[in-house]
Amino acid sequence: MRVLVLGGTAEARALARALDERGFDLVSSLAGRVSNPALPVGQVRIGGFGGVDGLARYLRGERITQVVDATHPFAATITQHAAAACATTGTPLLVLRRPGWRNHWHNPWWHVPSVGAAAELLNDCGPSGTVFVTTGRRDLAEYAADTRHRFLVRTVDPPEGPVPPAMTLVLDRGPYTVPGELALMREHGVSVLVTKNSGGRLTQAKLEAAGELGIPVVMVDRPPLPAGVTVVSGVPSLLRQLEGG
Ligand code: NAP
Repeated sequence: MRVLVLGGTAEARALARALDERGFDLVSSLAGRVSNPALPVGQVRIGGFGGVDGLARYLRGERITQVVDATHPFAATITQHAAAACATTGTPLLVLRRPGWRNHWHNPWWHVPSVGAAAELLNDCGPSGTVFVTTGRRDLAEYAADTRHRFLVRTVDPPEGPVPPAMTLVLDRGPYTVPGELALMREHGVSVLVTKNSGGRLTQAKLEAAGELGIPVVMVDRPPLPAGVTVVSGVPSLLRQLEGG
């Protein structure tokens, strides 16, 4: 078996480690979006494939016999491409997706389908004050027309393009702690948090902090998965599937 892991997540790195330890022939793929990415063990390739056709060519050329899509839940394009390329080439596909977050606290969560919808909601009826934005640097243009709020924006790399007019930028990549998130939110007087429902423990502390402070959360829900794909929620169950257990 030669496995292609579509990565860019902590789960993909954990999977690569587990596959490497078990002696699988493995190549991990990263998009190359962030500078200085955390690299998985084993063989790594970096950069896009060139759409569905490019990925299908890669699968055939590299004699890949199993694809695992372990990309971020919001990386919807590569997930669609993987499903299409695997269908075209007859390559088995498993999708590794961490479970989404659920509200275990008593603060309100307002669900929206996109970052654009989150920005609209804030503009129309969100509380005034400071908005803590953790939805990534690429969608910041969505908040660029908002003159009602101050924005505390946290990204891994500096934003390019339009940003909110009143913005404090924090460059950080986590993992984050609850005391750290509480201190940050208190320091900036955060009145509402905007996040994608990425799931996972590394960035969950902001939700615990928002819950403790009673701050409302604008939760951008996940894009849908392609029809018919097999989804597993953790590395152990994925390994069992690969090993035929
Ligand atoms: P995307 O919108 O789904 O994909 C855009 C294009 O980037 C794809 O069409 C593909 O280019 C290329 N690409 C994406 N992931 C790739 C991979 N693992 N290997 C090779 N090419 C890849 O993806 P995105 O939202 O920009 O995310 C890019 C990467 O960052 C993903 O791998 C994801 O796991 C990671 N990530 C994303 C987020 C997020 O919030 N979106 C957060 C954390 C990490 P071609 O069409 O040329 O093949």
